[in-house]
Amino acid sequence: MQKWLLNACRKSRFWFVLTLGLFLGSPSVHAGVVIQINFDGGLTSSQQAYFSVAASYWQSLIVDYAGGTNPLFSSGIDDMDGRIDITAKGIAIDGVGGVLGQAGPQTGAGLGGFLYTATGIMQFDSADLGSMESNKTLMAVIMHEMAHVLGFGTLWDPATDFGIGGFQDVFNHTTNAYAGANALGQWKTEFSQSSATFVPVEADGGAGTAKSHWNEVAGGAGLTGITDTLGRDMRNELMTGWLNAPSFLSRMSVAQFADIGYVVDFTNLAFVNSNLNKAVVPEPSSMLIFAMGAFAFAKTKSRKVKS
Ligand SMILES: [Zn+2]
Repeated sequence: MQKWLLNACRKSRFWFVLTLGLFLGSPSVHAGVVIQINFDGGLTSSQQAYFSVAASYWQSLIVDYAGGTNPLFSSGIDDMDGRIDITAKGIAIDGVGGVLGQAGPQTGAGLGGFLYTATGIMQFDSADLGSMESNKTLMAVIMHEMAHVLGFGTLWDPATDFGIGGFQDVFNHTTNAYAGANALGQWKTEFSQSSATFVPVEADGGAGTAKSHWNEVAGGAGLTGITDTLGRDMRNELMTGWLNAPSFLSRMSVAQFADIGYVVDFTNLAFVNSNLNKAVVPEPSSMLIFAMGAFAFAKTKSRKVKS
C-alpha cells in the first residue's frame, strides 16, 4: 500500500508579502483567473505537461474574482500582472516517500475584503516524481499542491497565517473548525453532515499538514466512515493531509474557494475527477477555447499528456 505523507504547505517557509495598491483593472484582457506556470528545473517535459493541465483544470473550477475586477492587475506593481504566477520545480526534499511536495503563496493582493495569491511556489521531491508519474498519482498531487498556492489551507485566515488582518477568516486555529459557508454547505449535503456547524480540519501531522487540510484518520491510516453521495470515503478526498489513491476532488473543496473570494464553477468537476488518477489527462475542449481567447494565457503551454 502506498501511503505517503502529503506534507504540502510548509507555510512558514514562505514569505507572503501583501502588496497594496490602486488596482486599475483591465477586464477585457485580464478578466478571470489566469494561472501561469514557470518551470524552474528538475521536471521532465512529460511532468511539466501535468502542471499545465492542472492549471487549466483549476481555471475551469475557479473562474473569477469575487472581490472585484481582477485584483492582480496593476501595471505599476511588481508581480501584479493579472496572472497567478507559480514557480514549479523538482528538488531533493527528503528522499523516497515522506514529503512528496510542498507549496504555498509568496505574494498577494487584497481587494474587496479578500486576500488573493499573486505569486506562489510548488516544489516536488525529485526522489518521488518518477514513481508518482508511473503510478498515476502525479496529477492528483499537482492539483493538491496548486490548491495550496491558490489559498486552500494557506489563506483561510491571513491574520493568523501571515499576520495580515482585515481579510477573509474562515478558520479557527484553536478548535480546527472551518466555518466558511460555501464549503460547510457542501459538507452538510455532499457528505451527509446535515447538523454540522463547521467542517473539521486536520489536527495531526505537524506543521504543514495540520490546520491546512480536511480532517481524516491520522496518517490516512483508515477509512473515515464519512462518504459522499457517490460512496467515496473522505480518506480519498484530494485535500486531506495524506495521499490515498484513487483521489477525488469534492464539491466541498471547490466551494472552499468561494469562501476565500473566488467565483467557482462546478461544470467541469466530473471531467476533472475522471482524469485525476490517470496518466492521460486531456483538457476539456472548453478549456482549449478559453486558452485561445485569453491573451494573458498565451505563454502557458497547454497540451495533452500521453502515457
Ligand atoms: Zn497539502
